[in-house]
Amino acid sequence: MTKIGVLGLQGAIREHIQSIEASGAEGLTIKRKEQLDEVDGLILPGGESTTMRRLIDKYDFFDALIDFGKQGKPIFGTCAGLILLANDIVGQDHAHLQLMNMKVERNAFGRQKDSFEAKIDISGVADDFEAVFIRAPYIVEVGDNVEILATYRGNVVAAQQGTFLCSAFHPELTNDHRFTNYFVQLVEEVKKTLASS
Ligand code: GLN
Repeated sequence: MTKIGVLGLQGAIREHIQSIEASGAEGLTIKRKEQLDEVDGLILPGGESTTMRRLIDKYDFFDALIDFGKQGKPIFGTCAGLILLANDIVGQDHAHLQLMNMKVERNAFGRQKDSFEAKIDISGVADDFEAVFIRAPYIVEVGDNVEILATYRGNVVAAQQGTFLCSAFHPELTNDHRFTNYFVQLVEEVKKTLASS
């Protein structure tokens, strides 16, 4: 069975595992970098990106995560996870994993809209998807190789660059598992390709 890890250092972990299992794959909480060898794909959950980065460094995950992505294994970054994937962050000198060619802004919806839900269409994935935004970022610029999958009020909130997928919202917090399911299918396809190469 396809196994998908959820980086288990901080943030919304359990709901992602449930969503992975509802999508027909096995979910594994990743607490040590060696566990990355056991999984075919990885979710970087929501939480707080600066805290998550601190823990990534503390537990020596930084190079292992980049390596995982560069091997061609799919990574899905949600909310803080999206921030970790970006190669540029508004107002910060240093980005984190830099696996996706895009510039993001943290807490971009401002204080008044700290948390909200909205129905959005995600291209090729789901129409009328109930997206839960919590102190969410959005994407302010994308490179040529990045496909925009969803916007909300003109702001980019989901995108894909090959095996890297990201959303500014939390796809794991409702019973609608279509976005996680899309990621699981991507992981299954890539797993077949990597096995035959
Ligand atoms: N605002 C958080 C950050 O900047 C992200 C919020 C979330 O993941 N729900 O890291």
